Amino acid sequence: MLDLREFIRAKRDGRAHEARDLREFVAAHLRGEVPDYLVSAWLMAAFLNGLDETETAALTEALLHSGRCFDWSDLGRPSADKHSTGGVGDKISLVLAPLVAACDVLVPMVSGRGLGHTGGTLDKLEAIPGFRTFLEPDAMRAQLDRLGVVMVGQGPDLAPADGLLYALRDVTATVEREYFIVSSIVSKKVAEGAGALVYDVKCGNGAFMKQRADAVRLARRLNEVTRSLGRRSAARVTDMSQPLGEAIGNALEVVESVAVLQGGGPADVRALTLELAARMLSLAGAAPAAEAARQAERVLDSGVAWERFVALVRAQGGDPESVERPGRMPAAPVVAPIVAERGGVLEAVNAFALGELVVAIGGGRRAKEDEVDPRVGLRVKRRLGDRVTVGEPLAELHLAREDAAAVARARACFRVGDDPVPAPALIIERVD
Ligand code: URA
Repeated sequence: MLDLREFIRAKRDGRAHEARDLREFVAAHLRGEVPDYLVSAWLMAAFLNGLDETETAALTEALLHSGRCFDWSDLGRPSADKHSTGGVGDKISLVLAPLVAACDVLVPMVSGRGLGHTGGTLDKLEAIPGFRTFLEPDAMRAQLDRLGVVMVGQGPDLAPADGLLYALRDVTATVEREYFIVSSIVSKKVAEGAGALVYDVKCGNGAFMKQRADAVRLARRLNEVTRSLGRRSAARVTDMSQPLGEAIGNALEVVESVAVLQGGGPADVRALTLELAARMLSLAGAAPAAEAARQAERVLDSGVAWERFVALVRAQGGDPESVERPGRMPAAPVVAPIVAERGGVLEAVNAFALGELVVAIGGGRRAKEDEVDPRVGLRVKRRLGDRVTVGEPLAELHLAREDAAAVARARACFRVGDDPVPAPALIIERVD
């Protein structure tokens, strides 16, 4: 039996854990034998003192084997998935999963909830009235075979120990460490059974990795640990120096995803979706790179990806009308404009603070048990480098009630200056 106080003390004092102790700790937590306060103490010790590569590999395997590993090879089609390290306004999965499935590659996507200041795909999907993010394994298999795509949470079957740690990291400010992110992402992605994994590593003030060098290192580590567990892997380091697209907040992001699936929507969301889709298709072996890019574009523009999304919503209990008919998604009662206080060039957007603001107005969780309000969020109307005039709306804040303090916080997230600012590159580095 692991001595928990000694285990925490070891990490507090900067000593490395034995793999078997990490395994025992994860297993005991999953059995409900380690109270959250002890796990939180260990998380903070590990956040401050680090886990080395051997410990990271051991933690990843412990999380992976806390549930079952799915295998879809008998369905006779290649499979692929992508996972983002977390950003603000990152709704790519909602467009990407049905798109790739419509190209005949299985997408058994397992996602998380909001983490820290970032949104989570599960919370976005649950903004669609009726949408169920838990499926029994047999139902997952049947839906994958029929539709080529499932979008679910971890549940008790799939890396459940990561689900528990993830929820605690979210509320104890212990998210942004490479070893936690790698073990969390790789364990659930390998467990879900996709043969090829593409990672979208966000970089910039709205990401967990603020610096390019850290993001590239994280991308390499994700690839290494994934490959060591027998899966193909590639990564893209992408811009998070401003929110992705216009919408931040669960229902608003669903509406924006629908626009992209219907051939419109913000150019950056469309471009990044196509980049990741092409890499998923080529990594899965479904098409060579150039053909994969053409195929992804064709399937998006022809409406086939959109039809697959509607079928997915219906299959998982969601109300298809809420996505098919404009104005049917839950909407906030108060919409407040955030206007420019001077004219000039939009030179900085604090995406991190915008993400935190959306959590604060009810769009994310401060405590594990918190309910999320799907209606609230923000629409950002101007991009870095845009010229703006005084009084022009930079964004609109969607609120559950009037909230002058939230409006002031939102305004402080935009800085207008005099000098021209180049638009940031969307794809910062391809790490294949
Ligand atoms: N996404 C995850 O699933 N885990 C992390 O730690 C960060 C992003």
